[in-house]
Amino acid sequence: MEAPAQFNELKKRLAEYYDLNSASAVLGWDQATYMPPGGAAARARQLGTLGKLAQEKLTDPAIGKLLDELRPYEESLAYDSDEASFIRVARRNYQIATLIPPAFVEEVSNHTVMAYQTWASARPENNFAAVRDNLEKTLDYSRRYAEYLQPLDSSYQHIMDALIDLPDYGMRVDTVQGVFAELRAALVPLVKAIKECEPVDDSFLYQSFPGDKQMAFAREVIQKFGYDFQRGRQDPTHHPFATRFSAGDVRITTRVDDHHLGDGVFATFHEAGHGMYEQGINVDFDATPLGGGTSAGVHESQSRTWENIVGRSYAFWEHYYAQLQSIFPDQLKNISLEKFYRAINKVEPSLIRVKADEVTYNLHIMVRFDFELALLEGKLAVKDLPEAWNARYQGDLGVTPPDPKDGAMQDVHWFAGLIGGVFQGYTLGNILGAQFYQTALKSHPEIPSEIAQGKFDTLYGWLRDNIYQHGSKYNAPELIQRVTGGSLDVQPLVNYLYSKYGEIYHLNM
Ligand code: ZN
Repeated sequence: MEAPAQFNELKKRLAEYYDLNSASAVLGWDQATYMPPGGAAARARQLGTLGKLAQEKLTDPAIGKLLDELRPYEESLAYDSDEASFIRVARRNYQIATLIPPAFVEEVSNHTVMAYQTWASARPENNFAAVRDNLEKTLDYSRRYAEYLQPLDSSYQHIMDALIDLPDYGMRVDTVQGVFAELRAALVPLVKAIKECEPVDDSFLYQSFPGDKQMAFAREVIQKFGYDFQRGRQDPTHHPFATRFSAGDVRITTRVDDHHLGDGVFATFHEAGHGMYEQGINVDFDATPLGGGTSAGVHESQSRTWENIVGRSYAFWEHYYAQLQSIFPDQLKNISLEKFYRAINKVEPSLIRVKADEVTYNLHIMVRFDFELALLEGKLAVKDLPEAWNARYQGDLGVTPPDPKDGAMQDVHWFAGLIGGVFQGYTLGNILGAQFYQTALKSHPEIPSEIAQGKFDTLYGWLRDNIYQHGSKYNAPELIQRVTGGSLDVQPLVNYLYSKYGEIYHLNM
């Protein structure tokens, strides 16, 4: 069947919506990189105006009418055709946007601005009492938001299902709980065994390492990975992120510490992973609902693959360590490759999620995921959160936060948005990264030896063909099925962690 006129009309209207979103993204990128502080108030207003215009475009009843009229055309097409996928994903986005009353969106947005400001000043003072009322309100808004979204999918069984389904399209509380429990059962004994080992010495990473030299090295590496500077750029910021304006302009940002070797380099690898995913999406999907990564978890799987599976591997440093030593000859002259490799992979249970290593990181996420559930279900009261937080950290990680600053008030997420569905994507990313990588190795067992020669084309090409190019055509479970032939599975991550850290710490597990 030839595309009816309504199809092109829908495409045109939605392209206007995505153009407005991209314009907002440019302003947001500028705000986080080069905007002088004096621009803040006007920028907030400008972003508000653009956001409102975009929302009006997307929720225009004409879009709903076009989507209805296009049903017979959609049904005549193969499910995985670009056209059917375009209509399917557009319909879902339209449904989400129209289920939430604009007045509610505005109310939540005003509340969030205030809650964030209160948190930003209360956190350094360890003042949980100051954020408590706001957090209770946030919880109430989160429940209402979930209620509004219930009609989206008749398979929702839990209040948090809708909140997970938005960032991690296709995932449910049950699925996530199941894989998290399995992963936790494997991680807790691994962490315990590592804690009993002689700690790894990483003190040499804390010397003077001029940031510009670290960044020059990292830039060279990510170009080799496949990040395209003709269609991207890298700039400094406080909280690193990647952002897409179009397939031809996907930018990354990084922060570097002159007195620590590592964070800036690995953050660059990480953001380049997000960037390569976006750069690799079919160009024809630009300014359509398919032109973006499909879920938080799949996105994070790509950043973690390049940061950890590749960037923290022994094979990678077999090739690159000599070069790094020549950049920092005084600082690294007495440090062997083995010592360096162990240091950048040091495992140490700690209080802070963003500083956590590959092994303990997922335990931090599970704490947050479980508390989101308990709060939404009413099984945990906001006032009891700090104490519950501390008890869980002591149980899972063997460390207790001395104060709420590094405990329940640590992450910005619940104070700059809603509660529910916020954290699971990070661990889903680690699980999926290992699962996809294992699948890539089945068709290309030569990948590790190529990495040891500084070659990444085979891995990059496999990821582009199997994951990147599809954009949002398939939701996460569909993509996992297509790529691996199975469903979400923690075993590849467990095997990877046991094998890598078993060797580093000489464990017999
Ligand atoms: Zn990320």
